[in-house]
Amino acid sequence: MPIHEKTLIDPNLLLQSDKLVVDGVDVSGHWNTMILPRTMTDYDADFYKTIQALPGGENVHRCWQCGSCTNSCTMYAINTDFNPRYWIYLTNLGFKSELVKDKDIIWQCVSCNKCTNICPKDVRPEGVMKALAHWLEMEGHTPKSKSSIFDEEFTRQCLERGRIEDTEVMFNFFRQTGQSVGAMLRRGWLRLLIERMNNVHLLRQGKIGKFIARLPVTQGLKMGWAMVFRPRTRSWGRTGEVLREYVEEQKRAAHAKIATRAH
Ligand code: SF4
Ligand code: SF4
Repeated sequence: MPIHEKTLIDPNLLLQSDKLVVDGVDVSGHWNTMILPRTMTDYDADFYKTIQALPGGENVHRCWQCGSCTNSCTMYAINTDFNPRYWIYLTNLGFKSELVKDKDIIWQCVSCNKCTNICPKDVRPEGVMKALAHWLEMEGHTPKSKSSIFDEEFTRQCLERGRIEDTEVMFNFFRQTGQSVGAMLRRGWLRLLIERMNNVHLLRQGKIGKFIARLPVTQGLKMGWAMVFRPRTRSWGRTGEVLREYVEEQKRAAHAKIATRAH
């Protein structure tokens, strides 16, 4: 009988003979597959508490392994290695090293929430995927995600000046994530942007006067000006400093919560 979810078994533990006849019966190939037993000792029985303490992971302990999340999963349909049921199973058993093996795909959840809608135990698997990706990042198993880098840049500007400058956020985000602004512009991004901003349809309709009147020159100049003379919210004063202290306090409280749950 074929083994379901064979991809989840360590290939070194699978024994299979391409040609085998036993008592005159041909059992070649998967008919003679055997799995070597294994003993896991490196588990952390309280690991699920760490995931519970992260946003989205609160209900991970409720899972009864029905598999509905994986069956309905958008990503599983594309790649059968993407298996929320299995990762929730590993979390509840505390097999952290097994989770780390899948660090390059866990973050690929597209947040469609099909799993969350179908789950009979309100585990909210989508949230668990986010909590696991967060944990992998916190533990240094995966590099900082692009969304974390974007959030940090956005927050930095808010705290420093009480407002953000879109152009500066995007430029710094591209720079910090190693993306070339020039390459993105050459891919047609800039042409599309200009077309949409410039009401090109007016030009096509021969309404040249209207087209010129609506050119977003002023907006472009404002953006360029703001990159040189960074605007601040009036009377911002020490507000950013106070907010920063508050954010740090919240971070410390969240880490303390994780540490308490894990012990
Ligand atoms: S649908 Fe819910 S209960 Fe079923 S395996 Fe997925 S998380 Fe667990
Ligand atoms: S939210 Fe993520 S885990 Fe859930 S079904 Fe969509 S891709 Fe799969």
